[in-house]
Amino acid sequence: MTTNSAPADPAGNQTTALRTHLCGVLRATDEGARVTVCGWVARRREHGEHLAFLDLRDHSGVIQCVIDNKVDVRSEWVIAITGTVRRRPAGTVNPGLATGEVEVGECTVEVLNEADAPPFSVDDRDESDEPVRLRYRYVDLRRPRMQRNLRLRARVNAAIRSAMDRQGFCEVETPLLWAPTPEGSREFSVPSRLHHGSFYALPQSPQLAKQLLMVGGFDRYYQIARCLRDEDLRADRQFEFSQLDMEMSFASQDDVMACVSEGVLDAAEAATGERPPPITRMTWADALNRFGTDKPDLRFEMELVDLSTEFAHTEVRAFSGSHVKALRVPEGGSFSRSRIDSLVEQAKRAGAAGLAWFRVTAGDAAGDAAGTGAGTQPLGLDSPLDRFLSETERAAVLEKTGAKEGDLLLAVSDTHRIACSVLGTLRATLGSPPVGQGPHHYVWVVDFPMFDGVDAAGNPQAAHHPFTMPYAEDLPLLDTDPFAVRSQAYDLVLNGWELGSGSVRIHRRDIQSRIFATLGITSEEAESRFGFLLNAFRYGAPPHAGFAYGIDRLAAILAGEENIREVIAYPKTQSGADPLTGAPSPLPARALVELGIRTVGPPPDTRPAPPPT
Ligand code: ASP
Repeated sequence: MTTNSAPADPAGNQTTALRTHLCGVLRATDEGARVTVCGWVARRREHGEHLAFLDLRDHSGVIQCVIDNKVDVRSEWVIAITGTVRRRPAGTVNPGLATGEVEVGECTVEVLNEADAPPFSVDDRDESDEPVRLRYRYVDLRRPRMQRNLRLRARVNAAIRSAMDRQGFCEVETPLLWAPTPEGSREFSVPSRLHHGSFYALPQSPQLAKQLLMVGGFDRYYQIARCLRDEDLRADRQFEFSQLDMEMSFASQDDVMACVSEGVLDAAEAATGERPPPITRMTWADALNRFGTDKPDLRFEMELVDLSTEFAHTEVRAFSGSHVKALRVPEGGSFSRSRIDSLVEQAKRAGAAGLAWFRVTAGDAAGDAAGTGAGTQPLGLDSPLDRFLSETERAAVLEKTGAKEGDLLLAVSDTHRIACSVLGTLRATLGSPPVGQGPHHYVWVVDFPMFDGVDAAGNPQAAHHPFTMPYAEDLPLLDTDPFAVRSQAYDLVLNGWELGSGSVRIHRRDIQSRIFATLGITSEEAESRFGFLLNAFRYGAPPHAGFAYGIDRLAAILAGEENIREVIAYPKTQSGADPLTGAPSPLPARALVELGIRTVGPPPDTRPAPPPT
């Protein structure tokens, strides 16, 4: 029962002017006590002519009250009950309920407020449609699941704050109305009433503000910051989200990782009761090679295998790419042909020219099967490609992947990046349990490349942001081989979700200019976009480094949820609407005039539905 899983009264005595006890805290030891409990009517059962059983609910749980059945109270009415705690008669104890040994008898009932019939049952077993849940979010929030999740999130926040305070960080709030942030996402803009035609940007993160705090001598800063990015919504993304944002001066990557780990592990312990082990590290190159992604899900194995050497001189065109990577799918040999075809399609969508596949079979009697090592059964490969493989290639495929009869082997031959990332996508599809399930596997991913991909003009693009410090020993490569330059950037990953990222920052103008030049940002453009930061750097910028991680994502996984909406009180739907309030909504003409704005759309039928009346 959910009512058992959280402490009934974590804040201690919650006696108020209207009540003596919370519903969920009453136990057999309270027998004989005269109590007043308040809450919502969860359920009412008639028992003969004179008696009714009423379950009264507040956030701490449910208590059974025995009332006169002439009292008119209905589902979700708000009432106060005064009565005496007594043991339930033998045979009627409910072991599934924390208060299941007792009930409140000799009751007087005071109706505090009547209620309309709820639009759905306030019960975790009754899952309604999400738009309906969000439209009546205030009813949905009464459900044990939402109570549990938001209270867990509050414990996460409290643990993080306390860890940061303990480590000497100072909480500073930064503006919501500000200048654009170079995080690379689309921004929300706010029109200025006093400066028609000009706009504030809502912060994608407090990145530049926190760097300026370092120049301002704040040394160790943190904030639970609300950030806004106008990007398509997904299970792990909302327009607005909360980050633990931090920055430190005179500190290295290791210092940042140690301080962040402390808060994250404290938060996990506060949420689950168990402290995870110290967080391990993996280089970006290793993560890509072994798991095909910079967000490795380490809850399961299925590591990628490199067959590039074995196929270096192959005659098979499908394997003639510069790199050949393979993935063993245990017991995937039973997949239907249409399921395999859909994997091939997925590989193509992810950027591969094709996907080779082999079912691992028992070797046939004719002896054309390859052995998998001394003393093991010979195995064969069932695939349209098999007849093109040489004996040594077939043997290498079986041996290096550790194939077993009944497995499916998948292989991509392409550039190193594509071969890895395509198989990484398939690995996640085929192996990842739902994100909130199973163990929690944290990992730091370090040594990211400085640049990733090129923009439309052919200039390298910053993998993190343009203020990230390269490793000193890689600086000479900036002119010769920029894509080989490693940055002092690091990510924190949990169960395949990126929790956050950070870096050591550039605090020297000469290095910053070289990075801008490599990115194709002219000094005029740098001046107009980040002039205030560059200017501040003239006035004594200490070496500094920082990090930010998403509290919504962390809380969702710790709560066992698949979607961050379940740990946010008032989230938006997939289309960015709020069914509760009807936001976004058109502005009255007068307000538009005041803001100096003339609109050109959208057509009326693309507007979100108005809120209920
Ligand atoms: N500002 C970065 C982000 O929001 C994090 C950081 O580098 O501190 O992703």
